[in-house]
Amino acid sequence: DFSVRLQVKGEDELAQLGKAIQTLAKDLEYLKKERNEFLASISHELRTPLTYVKGYADIARRPTLEEEERAKYLSIIYEEAEHMQKLVKDLFELAKMDQHSFQIEKEPTPLCLFLKKVYVKMYPAFQAKNMSLVYRCDEDITVHIDRQRFEQVMMNLLDNALKYSHQGSTVSIDVRMEKKNVMIMISDEGIGIPEADLPHIFERFYRVDKSRSRTGGGTGLGLAIVKEIVEAHGGSIYATSQFGKGTNMIITLPGGDEGVHGFIG
Ligand code: ADP
Repeated sequence: DFSVRLQVKGEDELAQLGKAIQTLAKDLEYLKKERNEFLASISHELRTPLTYVKGYADIARRPTLEEEERAKYLSIIYEEAEHMQKLVKDLFELAKMDQHSFQIEKEPTPLCLFLKKVYVKMYPAFQAKNMSLVYRCDEDITVHIDRQRFEQVMMNLLDNALKYSHQGSTVSIDVRMEKKNVMIMISDEGIGIPEADLPHIFERFYRVDKSRSRTGGGTGLGLAIVKEIVEAHGGSIYATSQFGKGTNMIITLPGGDEGVHGFIG
């Protein structure tokens, strides 16, 4: 009786092991495919600006070219080089995250004060586009964040809200406590995101409108980086949107302490 049971158990374990190996193989296959797609995207993304740089440099070097024309082409070359620089910087950032070699250094931070600083930094850019930036935070909440990284998150999201909105519209930052979690919301009244695209916007290189993103200086990596940083804080981020009406980005951070004071250096 005992030996029979042992045998059955052994077969069971073997079957389980087989299943586990199968899953692992599938995962590896998926990772390989994902890596290949990522590499293909990188070369594609670099090819476009390189084509511009090469083409315009070829024209700019013609000795018969008017100075004014040459200046025009040189500034395009400069812009494209800048775009490549941004792309390489973002890629490097993501590569560091993939290797887990980026450290999150959390410090207790009074959230409202922190967001106020971000608001002050971003305000002029909104003013320049004749847009309003509103900030509502009156709860005394302390969050544990890597201030530099989290500033990057806020700047990226506000930059998008600015980029994908019309002149004269309003972007707002709101904070509230939900159970033990802190919710930070960035809402805009901009162009919105079609429902079919919404599940993909946090993927690397995903863009709803490639040309609009490019002219706005976008690399398609901003939200992927934002997501990595928020998740490294133990938080999460999602978006809701109405096409043509506006977008909300909602960050949830675990465990804000109410009434505990921290300092911002
Ligand atoms: P990009 O550099 O193109 O802005 P992101 O990763 O920051 O890349 O965003 C991915 C895409 O999501 C954008 O190309 C844009 O289509 C869409 N998107 C992001 N934020 C907004 C927003 N606030 N309103 C409308 N669309 C947005």
